[in-house]
Amino acid sequence: MIVILKRDPDREQLESLIAWLQEKGIIIHTSIGEQNTVLGLVGDTSALDVDLIAALDIVEDVKRVQEPYKNANRKFHPEDTVVKVGNTQIGGGALTIMAGPCSVESEEQVVAIAKAVKASGATMLRGGAFKPRTSPYAFQGLGAVGLEYLKVARQETGLPIVTELMDLSQLPLFKDVDVIQIGARNMQNFDLLRAVGCQDKPVMIKRGMSATYEEWLMSAEYVMAGGNENVILCERGIRTFEHYTRNTLDMAAIPVLRKLTHLPIIVDPSHATGKSWLVAPLAQAAVAAGADGLLIEVHNDPAHALCDGPQSLRPEAFDPLAKKLLRLHQVMRELEG
Ligand code: PEP
Ligand code: MN
Repeated sequence: MIVILKRDPDREQLESLIAWLQEKGIIIHTSIGEQNTVLGLVGDTSALDVDLIAALDIVEDVKRVQEPYKNANRKFHPEDTVVKVGNTQIGGGALTIMAGPCSVESEEQVVAIAKAVKASGATMLRGGAFKPRTSPYAFQGLGAVGLEYLKVARQETGLPIVTELMDLSQLPLFKDVDVIQIGARNMQNFDLLRAVGCQDKPVMIKRGMSATYEEWLMSAEYVMAGGNENVILCERGIRTFEHYTRNTLDMAAIPVLRKLTHLPIIVDPSHATGKSWLVAPLAQAAVAAGADGLLIEVHNDPAHALCDGPQSLRPEAFDPLAKKLLRLHQVMRELEG
């Protein structure tokens, strides 16, 4: 971190700033220029509040030269993280396909969809039991019963289950879940992030709809700082001025995250677009851009789905897509050597 001081800073204030930084174990290199004096801060500056230092009378500007996230940072962990889930894995060269209904609606529904997506090549079953809905009058999910139905579907197919945790109070119910999803709306629910950081199940963090890469990675950092290194990131589109699609899928997130972090990257073209006919082209683009996996909503009767029908693929449409994605992934691997 670099602190640029105003001209002729008050000596007493400068000494107290230096003493305060040194107390925190920071080593300070001072360069005195013609115009300004610059302090180069060396050491662990991740806990320093940039705005607090910038607000001091003697400070002109503060610049971070290193990212505030450490555990999630590829600089400190060059190898890709591979998250093991049952006998499958996320990251490390495999293509993960998470598929299933937006909401678990009944045991029959989720078991039938799980069997269909498994037969098409899906590697995980994704379905919501606790649903974050914009309207309090919309279907809120089956709750704990929905989790039981997901477990039946896992039993029937062997597919590990991914499902959303909305609130701290639900955590005890998630003991048998394979991957805990933190939804876009909860990406910065820091208590929730801290809680899932203190247990050892993998956690998939969806990008908040207006979150920057750094904010998203800081959410991963919350989980990792608690000791849980099994974090997966999911790009699900961000809010822009464009309303034709539900959100705008930020494809650049894939190579950018690949550079900034070692964590696996999943892309969700279903929530990103809100339209089933846009799922295939964007899923293919995500695989070509190097995503570790996809999250695709599949429903056996989209017209009557209790949630997100318009963006859900029928099993008959998911089947050729999943097969194509697995082939495309193989071809990309061959092309990249
Ligand atoms: C979901 O995955 O079902 C969901 C609600 O998505 P998001 O949190 O990305 O809006
Ligand atoms: Mn959904």
